[in-house]
Amino acid sequence: MSRPTPTSSESQVHPLPAPRESWVLDTDVGAVIGALTLVVVGLWSRHGGVTALGDSAAKTYTSLAQLTGLLCSEAGLLGLILVTRTPLVERRYGLDRMFNWHRLLGEAMAIFLALHIAFSIAAWAIPNGAVNAIKSLTGKEPYMALTAVGSVVILIVTLSSLKWFRNKLSYEMWYFVHLTAYFGLAASFSHQIVLGTDFADDALARSFWVALHLALVAWLTWSRWGRFLVSITRPLRVSAVTHEAEGISSVVLSGTHLQKAKAQGGQFYVVRQLVKGRWWQANPFSLSAQPTTAGLRFTVKARGESSNAFTNIALGTRVIVEGPYGVCTPDVVNSEKVLLIGGGIGIGPITSFLEQLAPKHEPIILYRVSSEQEMSHVKELETLATARNGKVHTLVGHRATLKVADPFSADVLLKAVPDLAQRVVIVAGPESMVKAVQRGARAAGVPVENIHAERAWW
Ligand SMILES: Cc1cc2nc3c(=O)[nH]c(=O)nc-3n(C[C@H](O)[C@H](O)[C@H](O)COP(=O)(O)OP(=O)(O)OC[C@H]3O[C@@H](n4cnc5c(N)ncnc54)[C@H](O)[C@@H]3O)c2cc1C
Repeated sequence: MSRPTPTSSESQVHPLPAPRESWVLDTDVGAVIGALTLVVVGLWSRHGGVTALGDSAAKTYTSLAQLTGLLCSEAGLLGLILVTRTPLVERRYGLDRMFNWHRLLGEAMAIFLALHIAFSIAAWAIPNGAVNAIKSLTGKEPYMALTAVGSVVILIVTLSSLKWFRNKLSYEMWYFVHLTAYFGLAASFSHQIVLGTDFADDALARSFWVALHLALVAWLTWSRWGRFLVSITRPLRVSAVTHEAEGISSVVLSGTHLQKAKAQGGQFYVVRQLVKGRWWQANPFSLSAQPTTAGLRFTVKARGESSNAFTNIALGTRVIVEGPYGVCTPDVVNSEKVLLIGGGIGIGPITSFLEQLAPKHEPIILYRVSSEQEMSHVKELETLATARNGKVHTLVGHRATLKVADPFSADVLLKAVPDLAQRVVIVAGPESMVKAVQRGARAAGVPVENIHAERAWW
């Protein structure tokens, strides 16, 4: 077991305080979405969108093209707000949920975009014929060539994010394809301003729309690059690396900047190793010990190039961390008893979560792992659990070799934890395991609001 070791400059080691709670409410988010939708539909209606619906076929298609175009832009704007990683919103919902909503908005945007293209072609085809309509909308009209390229880019990005395609791409490939969406959105912006009646003929609406987009660009630039540049000025250094199990190491990062940091067990950081050829790769890793001013500990399994390099990183190497992120923290527990379930490397966040619990929580830890060689932190878990009136159960072996078909079915869980329905359940591990636990715990009578997990977000 490796504990963060205090550096000589630190006279006293103390746990980091919890990040401030967010004051954002569901109703605030609803109000923003409602207000933007009202503005968008209001603009469309103000410019004759509603009355055009009962007019000729060409006018009806034009009106529908305008409405779907505006809704497409709204979905894009809301989707981009979600990737700003704004702490106020992140502290309320968690990055995983924000990224999942971002994906859903991306899919909605693609549907509106397809409808917008179809209605536009239909409207232009009535007086000019389909071929001429396509020619005009892909090049002849001002800015339409650029818009056509932007639309194709957005559709490719959306397709690449569908689960079937995503699973075929490496994370980095998917991420860089995804980044081109910014180009796609920028390329199609100009046609909104110069074509159609919504903005070309309405100076007030045009100023509002341009200001809204400029504000979002500034917000995004600060959130994604400004904060990144700040984090470069506050690097941490590797102060300890401990081999824990086959392909698994604990890495402790220390530095004076931790004196002012805030974080909690169960949270994660996005980590960049400042070594040649690797600084551009950013990987999320969870805290595996309660964060203190002496250091942040991560327990990492070598899965690919980056994580492999991190498990073998040299002492003293500079590392940038962005975060902390995640809302699956001890804050979700009041005085209830707790069941913690960790699968594989998911035992890291379970360990840091456990460390912040008290004896009244009587924590039971279920540690699911495929082989003994992959087990880490077992002694540490036992010590932490015993000190909190709890215990650790391990379930080792590949699925096919287990005595039960589903180790997380309600029956099996209730046998191991008879008072399960009265507990708060925390789960960290592979997506399939998290889903199995959620199913089993719900069937065993645990209310949905008492089951907490970090969702897979890409
Ligand atoms: C919230 C969260 C917390 C995590 N905590 C831990 C932890 O404590 N310990 C640990 O060992 N692993 C953790 N992981 C998984 C870890 O991030 C990946 O194993 C690691 O990024 C692999 O990168 P690679 O370049 O070595 O491998 P690759 O071969 O490039 O990737 C292997 C797989 O890792 C995932 N991945 C890679 N890069 C990223 C990224 N930037 N963002 C999201 N997923 C990515 C993808 O699913 C990919 O298929 C966590 C993942 C998430 C989402």
